[in-house]
Amino acid sequence: MATLPNRWYNILPDLPKPLPPPRDPESFEEYSRIENLPKLFPAELLDQEISPQRYIEIPDAILEAYKSLGRPTPLIRAKRLEQLLNTPAQIFYKREDTNPTGSHKPNTALPQAYYAYKENSKYLVTETGAGQWGSAVALAASLFGLRCLVFMTRSSYLQKPYRRYLMSIYGAEVLPSPSGRTKPGSELLREDPEHPGSLGIAISEAVETVLGGEGYRYAVGSVMNFTLIHQSVIGLEAVKQMEEEGLTPDVVVACVGGGSNFAGIAFPMLGAKLSSGDFRHTRFVAVESSAAPRMTGGKYCYEFADTAGIMPMLKMYNVGRGYVPPPVHAAGLRYHGLAPAISLLLRERLVEPRAYSQEEAFEAARVFARAEGVLPAPETAHAVRYVIEEAVECRRRGRGEVILLCLSGHGLLDLQSYGEVLKL
Ligand SMILES: *Cc1c(COP(=O)(O)O)cnc(C)c1O
Repeated sequence: MATLPNRWYNILPDLPKPLPPPRDPESFEEYSRIENLPKLFPAELLDQEISPQRYIEIPDAILEAYKSLGRPTPLIRAKRLEQLLNTPAQIFYKREDTNPTGSHKPNTALPQAYYAYKENSKYLVTETGAGQWGSAVALAASLFGLRCLVFMTRSSYLQKPYRRYLMSIYGAEVLPSPSGRTKPGSELLREDPEHPGSLGIAISEAVETVLGGEGYRYAVGSVMNFTLIHQSVIGLEAVKQMEEEGLTPDVVVACVGGGSNFAGIAFPMLGAKLSSGDFRHTRFVAVESSAAPRMTGGKYCYEFADTAGIMPMLKMYNVGRGYVPPPVHAAGLRYHGLAPAISLLLRERLVEPRAYSQEEAFEAARVFARAEGVLPAPETAHAVRYVIEEAVECRRRGRGEVILLCLSGHGLLDLQSYGEVLKL
């Protein structure tokens, strides 16, 4: 039986080069001088962000919460998909969709809520686009008795109400952004009462709320190191589960928005490859949307972490914070940058990039769902596409690879999108 790890893995000490530090957007000073961060995040998270420790103990309360939400998550062999593709490859997928909100995001929302609660904060505040992150924060806040305030882009608030309902059921207050609650929001609303909003505006509203009051903490869904650290539970569990199968993955595959589910499944193995020589032959493939081609078409340079320009600047592959990707349904892959640690590993050619279009991804998701029963989230569908192509390549070459996929979420709240793209 798979067991829950009792510590998280942090790749920083195992990186082949030191990570370029975050910088202040105004002074370009290093991270430790950035004034706003201690007002936004619990001290424990800021320590984790730059921790030189390879392992960080998971507090008991978080272990309990992970267990209560169904961790460890199942690792499933995709036998029917293998048969359908007539491939000698063995395909395994790690089911992060079994989290109650349907994606891997509670893995970091829970610790962020816990550390805020430990500091006697009263409110957890965040922004959300389609609502995957907002619903994870709403759930985590409710588990630790915190109030939750979510600024949701007005266009999603109106057009994609289901995750908004879920957040409300968990007890969160959900405001369409721009809202009348903050100064930047009110100004935009005055200019245009029907303003559709954007993630950048929603971030500004959340951050302004946290900086402007007592007892508020901000929660962030990806990109920052501590989110990657928390997500390592995925990979640590998967390593044990693959060991139980007596197998070592030849290829590990995940989709990348900010990079948290990719780092989650890959870093425990990639770190071992760098430090101990285990997983020497394992490849790590990160799949993006060709609508936001940071890895396959972007630059490696300092850029703002958020579209609002409030958070630190990070050295990362990016398409520029002003880049507005075409409105694809995989909202989680539209981020303009990519976590610095993954960017560095990409630069060192230890991570392989791929990009697919929405149509390629959604077609792959249909094949996967018919074979395995699980409909992947639109984001996850991009990684599924690579898995199918790789398995077909294995057939052509008569090569029996072991492929491990992070199934970061399910698509049951995205059926509208599937209906539109697949013309159902
Ligand atoms: C948010 C999200 C992503 C993208 O975020 P990462 O930080 O890159 O993992 C991928 N898949 C699902 C299901 C998501 O909800």
